[in-house]
Amino acid sequence: MLVAPRRPTRVLDVGGVKIGGDNPIVVQSMATADTRNPAETLAQVQELADAGCEVVRIAVPDRKAAAALPDIVPFAAVPLIADIHFEHTLALKALEAGIHGLRLNPGNIRKHEDVVEVVELAKKRGTPIRIGVNYGSVAPMTPEFVDEMAQKNATQIELRAEWMVRSALGHIKILEDLDFGLIKVSLKAFEVPVMLEAYRRFAALPNDYPLHLGVTEAGTPRAGSVRSAVGLGTLLALGIGDTIRVSLTTNPTEEVFVGFEILKSLELRQKGATMIACPTCGRVEVDLFRIANEIDDFLLKIDDPIRVAVMGCVVNGPGEARDADVGLAAGNAKGVIFRKGKIVKTIPEDEMIDALKREILQVVEDRRNGVADEPVFEGQYKPMLTLTSVS
Ligand code: SF4
Repeated sequence: MLVAPRRPTRVLDVGGVKIGGDNPIVVQSMATADTRNPAETLAQVQELADAGCEVVRIAVPDRKAAAALPDIVPFAAVPLIADIHFEHTLALKALEAGIHGLRLNPGNIRKHEDVVEVVELAKKRGTPIRIGVNYGSVAPMTPEFVDEMAQKNATQIELRAEWMVRSALGHIKILEDLDFGLIKVSLKAFEVPVMLEAYRRFAALPNDYPLHLGVTEAGTPRAGSVRSAVGLGTLLALGIGDTIRVSLTTNPTEEVFVGFEILKSLELRQKGATMIACPTCGRVEVDLFRIANEIDDFLLKIDDPIRVAVMGCVVNGPGEARDADVGLAAGNAKGVIFRKGKIVKTIPEDEMIDALKREILQVVEDRRNGVADEPVFEGQYKPMLTLTSVS
């Protein structure tokens, strides 16, 4: 089995979105808008929701941000999680505003009675708390711990990963001692081997807390997407992970697209179209990169799970993309449209992009009408949706 069975966990309810158990792995992101500005924050949450984001985290760095929450939380398009550090009054304000989840490390709150106050209110409201351990901000290792790991001949990766796990367990114990169990855990690091080892170690422990996966500060879109795909993809393939956040230095809607692409790659979620495009070779006779990018943009508006292929030649294209629901093989002066690898239509080169778009809409329409996914042969083609219907 290539993808291991999912690690069993308890199920948490974050504002109606279920996380853990057999529920779909949830894609989340973090708003970059200033929480002190409710209109700006709500607009970005809506933008993220439109991109498919299922839960959005917002930073609550100070009292002004906390004071804005009553103008944000009830109006948000998806459940919100307040990201809070150190200051327990901010957590109380967030809970009072009806926040759907907290990201808070109880061990970082100085006074125990303040922790008790937050936990009691979270318990009363049924609000989950994520313990978020980041290697970059974890407390310094104690000499005893370093000695203990040295005796076990631990590598640097094992040393760091185990320290993160111990840190998470310390925070968990504070919550468990207060009889609080609505816990999620994340163990993020920039170094992929460290985060892999930390999550793997934690997942082997006898608890069933859902795991939020992330590679922290993964970087700019190109490098960050790859780092996240390797880190998150490896864990997901091991059956570890219940919600994911891809961290990229760009507009957060990109994080949502990348998150879903990771899940789609492992066939853990189906959302929208999947595009197959050949890398091109010496046989290609058209500007395939331009065509592929135009179709890629078009597919962003398609919510149905459909596989679309854009291939560079009529000779090998359909055969190479046999599993695609619909595709285009571009050639010199003509293009062919195919379904499931069978050629169904030949069109002049200047019509091929529009013809492929129409065929995609036709497949979607056929599916919705319960029409079997058989090839439609030339002459039977009757578009039932117009291009403008999804533009
Ligand atoms: S589909 Fe044609 S152009 Fe594309 S890589 Fe294959 S052989 Fe080359």
